[in-house]
Order: sequence, then C-alpha cells, then structure tokens
Amino acid sequence: MKDLYDRHRAVLPDWLALYYDDPIEITHGEGRHVWDAEGNKYLDFFGGILTTMTAHALPEVTKAVSEQAGRIIHSSTLYLNRPMIELAERIAALSGIPDARVFFTTSGTEANDTALLLATTYRRSNQILAMRNSYHGRSFSSIGITGNRGWSPTSLSPLGTLYVQGGVRGRGPFAQLSDDEFIAACVADLEDMLGQTRGGVAALIAEPIQGVGGFTSPPDGLYAAFRQVLQRHGILWIADEVQTGWGRTGDHFWGWQAHGQAGPPDILTFAKGIGNGMSIGGVVARAEVMNSLDANSISTFGGSPVTMAAGLANLAYLLEHDLQGNARRVGGLLIERLRGICAQLPVVREVRGRGLMIGIELVKPGTDEANLEAAAAVLEEARAGGLLIGKGGGHSTSVLRIAPPLSLTVAEAEEGAAILERALRSVC
Ligand code: PMP
Repeated sequence: MKDLYDRHRAVLPDWLALYYDDPIEITHGEGRHVWDAEGNKYLDFFGGILTTMTAHALPEVTKAVSEQAGRIIHSSTLYLNRPMIELAERIAALSGIPDARVFFTTSGTEANDTALLLATTYRRSNQILAMRNSYHGRSFSSIGITGNRGWSPTSLSPLGTLYVQGGVRGRGPFAQLSDDEFIAACVADLEDMLGQTRGGVAALIAEPIQGVGGFTSPPDGLYAAFRQVLQRHGILWIADEVQTGWGRTGDHFWGWQAHGQAGPPDILTFAKGIGNGMSIGGVVARAEVMNSLDANSISTFGGSPVTMAAGLANLAYLLEHDLQGNARRVGGLLIERLRGICAQLPVVREVRGRGLMIGIELVKPGTDEANLEAAAAVLEEARAGGLLIGKGGGHSTSVLRIAPPLSLTVAEAEEGAAILERALRSVC
C-alpha cells in the first residue's frame, strides 16, 4: 500500500490519524469480517464503533439503500421526507425522553454542535461543563468541550468550558477511593466549581462510557448524583451516546440507563452505528429545548432519504435479532475470556467494559505507567494475525479497544480472543 500511502500523505492533512505502520486499504466486508486490497481477511473487532453497528454488508441495509437510491437521492429538509419522519418516530420512542423531538445531522460532531446550540440558547449562557478526558468531536465548538488533550488541538472556541472530574478515575488521589467515596468526591468538586461560577451554566455534556478516552466507565450512580446538583441549578444534561447507544453496552439500550435514577437526559446525541456506515448523526431533546431556536433552520444532508433508509433497516435488524441481548451474552463471555488471558500478563493493568465495548489497559510491567509502545505493537501483531482492534486512552493511547459489530458470534469471539492472546504474549 506504499504508493497509496504516499498519495494520502501528499494530499491529506498531517493530523488525520491513521492506524498501522503500513496502513490498510479496506475494500470489502461481510458480517464481522473485512478484506484489504491485498486480499487479506480480518476479523473486525473495531468496526462496530467506527460505524458498522450490526454487520458488514448487511443485505437488509444494502437493499434498503439501493432501493431508495433508485427512487430518489435528493435531500432537503424543505420537503416532507417519509423515511426521515419514520426514523425520527422510532428514535423518539426509544430515547426515553418525554415529548421528544429529533433532528438529524451527518455526524456525531455536528450532533454535539447542535446540542450545544440548543443548550446555550435555551439557557442563555455559553458556559458548559464537560468531563475530563472526554471526546465530543472535531468542530470548532466540540473541540472546545473535548477534555482529551490528545484529540483537542488548541482552538479559540468562545465557549466557557469547565472540566469536571468523574469520567475516569485516573491515577491521582481519586484512584484509591471506593465507588461511593469517588461519587461523593466528584459531586463535592462539581458543587465547588459551580459555587465559583458567575452566571448560569448551560449544560453538562458527558459520554456515559468514555469512548476515545479508553472505554472508562464511572461508577453507576455518578450521573444520578450529578443530576440532582444540575437540576438544582437548572443546568441541562447532555448525554453523548455516539459510542454507547443502540444496545452496545448489553445491559442497556442507552449508556445513560446504567445511571437509572439520573432519568433520561435533557438532550441525547447519537451517530456512528445507526446508519451501519451511512452518515447519520442526530439530537433528541424535549420539545421545549429543541424548539428554543428563534429562527428557521435547515439541514441539506441531515435526514437524507438514503441514509434514513439505511438507519430504518439497520435499526429494525438490531431490534428483531435482539443484538443488545447478543452484546450482553457474547460480550460477557468475551470479557471473561480476556480477563482469564490477561490475569497472568504483567503488561495488563485492567480489562474493563460492558457488553461489546471492552478495553484492555496496558502498562509498563511493574509500574502504573501507560505503555504506548506495547499498545501499538499489539495492534500490529493482531493485524498480522488477522484481527483488527482499536486503541485509545486518556493522556496516552495505551488502551486496546474492542468493539465488534453487535452480531458477533461466540465462535468469532473465541477466535478473536485467541489471536489477541498470541499478540499480547508476543510483545510482552
Ligand atoms: N462523540 C463521541 C463520544 C465520539 O466517540 C465521536 C467520534 N469518535 C464523536 C462524538 C464525533 O463523531 P463524528 O466523528 O461522527 O463527528
């Protein structure tokens, strides 16, 4: 792929992240597998988060897309759009948000951007609370609420952002606390921060499980405890479900549901998997919040009938085949298997996750120091063995990320775990 890589480097930005020393050109896929331009076949343990929620080349989605494309591709929210209305109805009903309205975008970034527009308008404030180590997108505004320094180039965003502790325990004083102590400490920190803030704060935005940040999950009650404080101040809660939505976490359809008493968020954003590769993002909010904009707005490509057809077919498949249940069952087996493999490996600090969203954090043996080199090497070895995985993490990319399409079978989970075991052993 050298020639194509050279062309990539010559014409695309230097900051466009690319996996592998010798990057892969993926040419086709089927089920949980993809093939590269050289004919190599890979089991895909990362594509589920990248976009392929259910399965690669799912015939139901392909058929819906080609049928819709054969009728009309033309996209504009200026006309009634049946597939858009139908998908909005389904998502509104699934969201758990009362009197929900849905707005479609073309990416997660744009969804969060819209959520910020709604929250700041509704609250007449440009102050936002975001979590440390978070990732919310790459636009001017979403970079301004992204706490993960590796993914937030310096920007002159006009938002006033305050970063809250809680999304990840890290290695500092919070690391040693019990769940209840951790929650109490984070709530005290939030109260303290709000006490020092002049004027109102518009919203707190949070990923229920941090995705790019390394699949880190706060204790279940955290957002319920935060919500009580937020409600006292009239501050909205935005749940960024771009990675955690659609049943990926197994036990719940949305990540926020792990924090049951927190109730549904005021605003929920989604993207990535719902289109199974077609670009769909969106925002769900209470009507009162959604309708707070005081002038007309449109979206040319948000809600395009072709992407909406993909979303409808994909969602129907997900629900009819209970892929949330599959994520719970197969993900549960996979995490246990990986815990067994990693128990004896000094390079592994923790195997964590929920459903089919599993992280393996690597450290330098005998220390608590992030091991970037090992993570990069395991990625390469896994690829050589026929397995694609991802990486992520807070201050450094030392967490292996596993997020296959939700239709993963037990046999594929076993196969992937065996390849990963060989890769881990070869570098450690
Ligand atoms: N929010 C979260 C939690 C994400 O993980 C991402 C993408 N990694 C985004 C927002 C941005 O989505 P997109 O890349 O579609 O703009």
